[in-house]
Amino acid sequence: MSIEARKIRLVMHLRKSGITDTRVLSAIERVPREAFLPEHFLHRAYEDSALPIGHGQTISQPLVVAKMTQELELGPTHRVLEVGTGSGYQAAVLSCLVARIWTIERHKPLLKVAKERFQALAIDNITARAGDGSLGWPGQDNFDRMILTAAAGEDPPPELLKQLALGGIMMAPLTITDENGVRGQKLVKLRKTRNGLEREEMWPVKFVPLVPGEAQAEEVPSL
Ligand code: SAH
Repeated sequence: MSIEARKIRLVMHLRKSGITDTRVLSAIERVPREAFLPEHFLHRAYEDSALPIGHGQTISQPLVVAKMTQELELGPTHRVLEVGTGSGYQAAVLSCLVARIWTIERHKPLLKVAKERFQALAIDNITARAGDGSLGWPGQDNFDRMILTAAAGEDPPPELLKQLALGGIMMAPLTITDENGVRGQKLVKLRKTRNGLEREEMWPVKFVPLVPGEAQAEEVPSL
C-alpha cells in the first residue's frame, strides 16, 4: 500500500473516531508524519500508534494529536505554547492552524533534530528552544492556548497557568487518582475564566512524564 493510501486510511479512521474538525483533518493530511520518525519506523508512519523517537521518548499517537488539537478550539490569531517538542510532529500539525507556535523541549538532541525537520519542511512559524517547559516561556507570556505533551502531576505547573491568557485553554495530561485509589493519567481540558479554572477530565492517556529541571544535553541513564 502506498504512503498516500495509508494516509487516507488513517484520516478516515480519525473521522470515525470523532475528529470532525476538517481543519484538523487537513492538517494531519498535510504534515508528513514519516518525516518525524527514525528511519526504521518509516513504514509505520500512518499507523494509529505512538512510536519511539529515542531518549526514552515517543511521538504521540495520531488520534491523540488530532483530539488534543481539536479540543484546543484554535483560532488563526492564537498564540500557542507547546511543552515537549519531542519529534516536532504535534507542533507541525498546530503550525497549519495558527499564526505562531512556541515549543520547548528538555532534551537538546531531540530539539536539534526537530528544528532541522521544521527547516527541511519549510515550516517557519515555530519558535523552538531547549529548556524546562514547566516554567513556560517568560517574556512571551499571555498565551491563548497551551498544550502539554508530557504528563504533569495532579495539577499543571503553576508558572504555566500564570502565562495562560484569560479565556485561554490548556490541554494537559494530568495524574488522576480514581475513586478506588488507582493512579493513572487523564487528558484534562482547562479553561482560565474570571471565576477561576474550569476543569474537564476527558479521556485516559499514557504520556511520558513531564520532568522538571534543566535541559539535558545527553540521555541520562536511568538506574
Ligand atoms: N509532542 C511530541 C511528543 C513528545 S513526548 C511529538 O509530537 O513528538 C514528550 C516530550 O516532552 C519528550 O520529548 C520529553 O523530553 C519532553 N519533556 C519532558 N519534560 C519536559 C520539560 N520539563 N520541559 C520540556 N520538555 C519536556
